[in-house]
Amino acid sequence: MFDNYEVWFVTGAQLLYGGDAVVKVDAHSGAMVKGLNDSGRLPVKVVYKGTVNSSKEVTAAFKAANNDDKCIGVITWMHTFSPAKMWIHGLQALNKPLLHFHTQFNSEIPWDTMDMDFMNLNQSAHGDRKFGHMVTRMRKNRKVVVGHWQDAAAQDKIAIWMRVAAAWADSQDMLILRFGDQMNNVAVTDGDKVAAEQVMGYHVDYCPVNDLMKYYHAVSDADTKALVADYFKEYDHSPALETPGTEAYTKVWNSAKAEIALRRLLKETGAKAFTTNFNDLGDFDQIPGLASQRLMSEGYGFGAEGDWKTAALVRTTWFMSQGMPKGCSFLEDYTLNFDGDRSAILQAHMLEICPMIAATKPRLEVHRLSIGIDSETARLVFTSKPGTGTAATVVDLGNRFRLIVNKVECIESKPLPKLPVASALWIPMPNLEVGAAAWILAGGTHHTSFSYDLTVEYWEDWADIAGIEMVVIDEDTTISGFKKELRCNEVYYMLNKALQ
Ligand code: MN
Repeated sequence: MFDNYEVWFVTGAQLLYGGDAVVKVDAHSGAMVKGLNDSGRLPVKVVYKGTVNSSKEVTAAFKAANNDDKCIGVITWMHTFSPAKMWIHGLQALNKPLLHFHTQFNSEIPWDTMDMDFMNLNQSAHGDRKFGHMVTRMRKNRKVVVGHWQDAAAQDKIAIWMRVAAAWADSQDMLILRFGDQMNNVAVTDGDKVAAEQVMGYHVDYCPVNDLMKYYHAVSDADTKALVADYFKEYDHSPALETPGTEAYTKVWNSAKAEIALRRLLKETGAKAFTTNFNDLGDFDQIPGLASQRLMSEGYGFGAEGDWKTAALVRTTWFMSQGMPKGCSFLEDYTLNFDGDRSAILQAHMLEICPMIAATKPRLEVHRLSIGIDSETARLVFTSKPGTGTAATVVDLGNRFRLIVNKVECIESKPLPKLPVASALWIPMPNLEVGAAAWILAGGTHHTSFSYDLTVEYWEDWADIAGIEMVVIDEDTTISGFKKELRCNEVYYMLNKALQ
């Protein structure tokens, strides 16, 4: 899906050193953009948009970026010095993510041959600071990447920002469908949907469960049969499950119907995420957990109990990490395991965990579930891969949104013979005592969007683009330091709002 997007590269210059200089700047920029595209490290194509030499040209370039749906962000670079006031009007207009690439055409100084002309032409060290001052003075968030354009480390930082910018574009028309309302009386998973659309682009709509039931009842036997056959092909299962007429078979059959119905409705409405509420499940004969598991791995965001913010974040997480190796999922903090410095949190849900994070082939099983609808219920059972990752959530603090990110380490779980659900077991960084305390002090949810592949840098880029607060809990977190950060942020965001 990154193929549909492009990032624009705009080079700042001016006419002080004559047209010849600009011709060289232009040629160098073109070579650099080609080099970036040929590196094979960038998920989104970079399109060179030429040099901008005046306020009019800057403004025209940025307005065009705003109006082009394919353009998900702009990279700027100053080859020579670029008078910073000429960026003011363009930066005022720009509403796409901005990356300032502090690089240079030549890698090393040509010590023996460099003369004043060469130095004047290659003065990014000077021009990028002038530009940077203007962006800072205008309080515009952007990512600053420093490094030679042929250097893999610099390219990888651009790649991270590109994935985030693409996910940001994806969320600007994100429809989240809610089947049923919020679970009664919950707070942290609720929030201001109007503000969420203004700030993050999320549009949250209610969808009557009756509408979903129309789709459910309309699913044909032939379609259901084909999907059930896919299940048996794709997942380990007991051979007894394949016997038509048994209760277990019927539950798998009806789960397939639920999956087809949900997918059709989501496709027809253009929704990218959805929530369910186990108190409001219409004519379903069981919680559609298997459907939610499978739809998540296709990229539909999911949030349980009406949690639309997490549903949206799960979609964003999936979108950012497309093609990456280890996967992502909706998860819920369920049960603690106190075990000294290996103390951990069992991450599970009733059923709804994405099979992308499974350590081995998921197993299709049918067991009784008494929550919501008391019934035998189909589900995919697995434990997660070991390894580090990030758990993220967005909470609504009443006056703003806060992104909370915790680095976690998934460790091997013991068998849970009486709990046949998907699960993960993780140690929050720096350890359970500090990690969980900091998360609770920050007001974090019990639901998270988890990814093995996304590092804190992705989330930092995302929070900058969204313009929302971010707090990180990692190996360096201390409770006293974290409390100070929360208090400082409280003042900063209040003042920031007052000054706008
Ligand atoms: Mn829950």
